[in-house]
Amino acid sequence: MSKTLVWVEHEGGAVKDATLSAVTAASQLGEVHLLVAGKGVDGVAAAAAKIAGVGKVHVADDAAFEHALPENIAPLIVELLASHDVFVAPATSNGKNIAPRVAALLDVAQISDILSVESEDTFTRPIYAGNAIATVKSKDAKKVITVRGTAFVKAEREGGSGTVEAVSSNGGASADRGISSFVGAEIAKSERPELTSAKVIVSGGRALKDAETFQEVIFSLADKIGAAVGASRAAVDAGYVPNDYQVGQTGKIVAPEVYIAVGISGAIQHLAGMKDSKTIIAINKDEDAPIFQVADIGLVGDLFKIVPELTGKL
Ligand code: FAD
Repeated sequence: MSKTLVWVEHEGGAVKDATLSAVTAASQLGEVHLLVAGKGVDGVAAAAAKIAGVGKVHVADDAAFEHALPENIAPLIVELLASHDVFVAPATSNGKNIAPRVAALLDVAQISDILSVESEDTFTRPIYAGNAIATVKSKDAKKVITVRGTAFVKAEREGGSGTVEAVSSNGGASADRGISSFVGAEIAKSERPELTSAKVIVSGGRALKDAETFQEVIFSLADKIGAAVGASRAAVDAGYVPNDYQVGQTGKIVAPEVYIAVGISGAIQHLAGMKDSKTIIAINKDEDAPIFQVADIGLVGDLFKIVPELTGKL
């Protein structure tokens, strides 16, 4: 049975949801150990130890790990992998920043964005923007894997009783590798749910014309129903919303209960990010728009009439 090490992504003292999906994937490979790295992370470590199925939590508490700089965290993970067979990270921006460095340091091939665990060396993952699913078998002795959060159920936050162990890092060397430093973070404050964990998403496309109209039409509907807001790449490129709103192959992968696509044509790169949503509602004036091929409910018509009417009636 393999021993897996999962990197825990955390924020504001809480374990992020994507980590819970990574734990589920790891539990299909063997014994699950977690790594909590950061500064003042006793609370996170205690919460991590309670996650169902976790055997041990390694805690690396050092200022060098405070902002999850991959240049500092990747060598720490490589050290811990001396006694683990598999490294697992959520396929989030931070996870995707750390895992390739670990793979490079170990000189192994990363297995990215897995959708399922077929056996201890075989996995499925999307290719061609999700239009084909590849089955990948790895011969590497140590495996480095990122996990698509929407493909695995989240492990329960309660029910585990893992032991917590401090990492004695780097054989006494500094945890700060001195090759990168944290400068600052600009984080948009929002009352809305986060895009990747929202139950309902209202997404707007190029048809929304400009930032002001996007705000008026899409945000008003989203606020009415407590939904997160997403966008197509065309809407982001045109400056209607910042790029962390982008859904798709080069944006966020989402699978909410309900995804409402407004004035979005349904290019394959957009579908790659949302087609696993439980119910897809599309509003588009072109009845031949490809989005209708994946939609459960389609409304053909002018969004500037339909959406305000809908928002008004809710
Ligand atoms: P359009 O394709 O221009 O569609 C606008 C739609 O609005 C049309 O269907 C039109 O009928 C409808 N419309 C217009 N006016 C109205 C109205 N008044 N009422 C109702 N409907 C109306 N795209 C992404 O979204 N996410 C990605 O991550 C992404 N990654 C990419 C990666 C690569 C390598 C490449 C090459 C492309 C990528 N794209 C991505 C871009 C993608 O190919 C499309 O160009 C983009 O998704 C189109 O956005 P859109 O649907 O908003 O715009």
